[in-house]
Amino acid sequence: MKQENIVHQENKIIPAQIEKEAKKALSYYPELKDIEIEFRYKDEIKKSFMQAQPKFSNLFKGKNSRSYYIFMSRKLNIEGDEFSMDEVPSDVIIGWLGHELGHIMDYREKSAVGLMIFGMRYVTSSRYIKEAERAADTYAVNHGMGEYILKTKNFILNNSDLSEAYKKRIARLYLSPEEIVVLVNKLEEDMEDSDKEKDLEEAEKETN
Ligand SMILES: [Zn+2]
Repeated sequence: MKQENIVHQENKIIPAQIEKEAKKALSYYPELKDIEIEFRYKDEIKKSFMQAQPKFSNLFKGKNSRSYYIFMSRKLNIEGDEFSMDEVPSDVIIGWLGHELGHIMDYREKSAVGLMIFGMRYVTSSRYIKEAERAADTYAVNHGMGEYILKTKNFILNNSDLSEAYKKRIARLYLSPEEIVVLVNKLEEDMEDSDKEKDLEEAEKETN
């Protein structure tokens, strides 16, 4: 295997191949600025393209000193169908990474023991997977990544080169494009409401 170029930037480690996408996705999560994250290619990830997880070595160091991996697969291999990462457009990778960063936001809230229980349940219960995947999508949308998440979702669900089994799994466990649109709209409404409130406050100040 050829040596790959790795970019070290402050507390982030990123393969050069996805540097642009990773930085773009990270720019939506200012809360993760001080968190150490290593993006790393892994030969095979079971049933998915990417996977976020805490580094076990410092899991018990306290919520703010923990660091995380985002593992990425170069190929998705489901039931003999192979799909290469090189075929994935840049915006879709940004959406995908945004989803994984959403998992890290979710992990940050949990205690070490909570995370271990979470890990065990994640492998045994599809209800748990569903909850976790929806939380990650919701974090990403609420951080302003709705368009990217939607692109990623549509890319997967409308892709004839991806296996039906994989698409069914995504449709069953993740937010649907329709649900994402609802979330994005709600976010926009909330923002308009808070703008209106601010305008009202300003107007009140001026009249006082
Ligand atoms: Zn996920």
